[in-house]
Amino acid sequence: MNDVSLQRPNLARNRKIHLTTNRKMRAYKFRIYPTKTQDTEMRKHLWLSKNLWNEMLEHTKNMYADYGMFPTKKSLRQFTQKVGLYSQVGQELVDRLLDALKLKMRLKKKGENGGFPRFKSFARLKSLNYPQSGFTLEKKLEVTPFGEITIKQHREIKGEVKTLSLKRESSGKWFAVFTAEEPPQEPKINLGEKVGVDLGLKSFATLSDGIKIKNPRHLKKHEERLAFLQRRLSRKLNMSLNRHKAKHKVAMLHEKVSNTRIDFLHKISSELVSKYSFIALEQLAPKEMAEQNYGKSIHDAGWSMFSNMIRYKAASAGCEVLFVNPKDTTKMCSQCGGIQDMPLSERIYYCPNCDMLKDRDLNASINILNRATVGQMGSNACGEGIKCCQ
Ligand SMILES: [Zn+2]
Repeated sequence: MNDVSLQRPNLARNRKIHLTTNRKMRAYKFRIYPTKTQDTEMRKHLWLSKNLWNEMLEHTKNMYADYGMFPTKKSLRQFTQKVGLYSQVGQELVDRLLDALKLKMRLKKKGENGGFPRFKSFARLKSLNYPQSGFTLEKKLEVTPFGEITIKQHREIKGEVKTLSLKRESSGKWFAVFTAEEPPQEPKINLGEKVGVDLGLKSFATLSDGIKIKNPRHLKKHEERLAFLQRRLSRKLNMSLNRHKAKHKVAMLHEKVSNTRIDFLHKISSELVSKYSFIALEQLAPKEMAEQNYGKSIHDAGWSMFSNMIRYKAASAGCEVLFVNPKDTTKMCSQCGGIQDMPLSERIYYCPNCDMLKDRDLNASINILNRATVGQMGSNACGEGIKCCQ
């Protein structure tokens, strides 16, 4: 639910986030207060779910061992019929098992060992899932077959409710978790200007209208300390207690650094998409950057995460985003198009052909904008801001 906490710099998680953002699903968790009878009944259903899961899994494993194939959906569904569970809840378990088997097959194709899903103990199966129907939520929550359950709904659900899961935590408390599809938002009309963005190491970003966005200073301090600790860790003896401690320290700081960085990226990307109507960025080529020794991996990860944030936030902010070919954006004169070498240490671009003198990154950001707007609104050959081209 919290945007920030979802965004971890971990590839697998990132992919997940991407999917969630596309579907715009949001989860809502509320405490529910079943009566004694309902509590008993609901726990019984958890028990039944656990048995059903284990039976289906055993059947699947046997069939795979004997015939090398998995049971069909239809045959698995037969298991659900006489269990006494609400049909939707049983079917959700079938779907979950089939998904796990599909994942296993996909991993096997790639030559990895996926393994079977696990048998579940009563303690491990904690929720009853209603994927489509079997519940209504008004003043109280009505769930088949338990009837009306008191719910403490401390905030309104926006959009259409899709699924419900009744969850029992190990404390014995019950919760209802709803997922709802957020209502489509009217695209905003954005009258902002067009901008080119150059991402760099010295400044985090330089905009073609001359604005520079600095890396947050405390973040830089953390990063330096992290690099120091990582170096020290690499010198520690394997398996030693000291190494263990150092590792823990590094992990904690690493998490802090990435969270701080993600907060920063969120803030800047939101500001940009609401301020500008058009953003041009370089298409990142991580391999090339690594070859040229441009920077630490943490920057590369930050850049691509930032580009992604801009991309997915832009649509609802009425902002258009274009990624351009990054070739020679630094070496090219944004006024006459001449090309010259620009060693990293050279912070000022001076063009002997047309006498242009500009900050290196500003020159690059103007090139990025020009490249994105060629053939659109005419190229911005004047190189001074954007207004004059419109
Ligand atoms: Zn020039």
